[in-house]
Amino acid sequence: MNIKEIYEKFDAIGSLTFATINEGYPETRIAHFFAYDDKGLYFRVMFPKPFYKQMKKEKKVSVCGLNGSTAITHGEDGLPEFEPGYSMRVTGDIKEIPLEEIVNKTINKELFDVGIKDAEKYSALRIFVLYRGKGEVFDYDFETKFRDHKLLRTSFSFNGFSHKVFGLKIKDNCIRCGNCFRKCSFKAIDKINKDYVIDSRKCDVCGDCIVVCPVDAIGEK
Ligand code: SF4
Ligand code: SF4
Repeated sequence: MNIKEIYEKFDAIGSLTFATINEGYPETRIAHFFAYDDKGLYFRVMFPKPFYKQMKKEKKVSVCGLNGSTAITHGEDGLPEFEPGYSMRVTGDIKEIPLEEIVNKTINKELFDVGIKDAEKYSALRIFVLYRGKGEVFDYDFETKFRDHKLLRTSFSFNGFSHKVFGLKIKDNCIRCGNCFRKCSFKAIDKINKDYVIDSRKCDVCGDCIVVCPVDAIGEK
């Protein structure tokens, strides 16, 4: 995914949760990205707020949101059910951007103009850019209403942020018993010839396969 695609998916969510660190503890609040360009994702905050001070100190932020119903219903068995949707997160490095730099933006000018107008209205407003980061889209259909698998993950990073995609793999000591294949309700394990392979894009890291493996052949990538 490129920055435009990342921005548009966050923009479709709207209000997002922004997390910073305050004296060693994570602290969250709601905000949103208002613009993007090849330099990153832009958001704004008033400088007297603790949010601003924490960002100036730590220079890092983590953001997430959910596109879909937040309601949790319960099936006949009493277990929770969720309407299909996606959640999304990005974590990365941030810096404050002078307003003059925003005023001189020519790409996506209509988006940046909103930030400029807001800065004219609220003189304590400051603008930040998340200039490099990594994240993931977690697209879910847990009741398999529209497809045959529950989950599809898309990992991304931009502007040189290095990241390792977390996932599980089946190791060489596998005895090909098939327990994991039969147990995985996410349909994340494929049988290729005689080997079993975990598709990280569909895997929830729920651990069911680890529990049923008789030879401890499933571990981190
Ligand atoms: S961790 Fe869960 S979702 Fe992933 S392969 Fe194992 S059983 Fe399937
Ligand atoms: S349960 Fe373990 S031994 Fe059996 S196929 Fe899966 S990874 Fe291999």
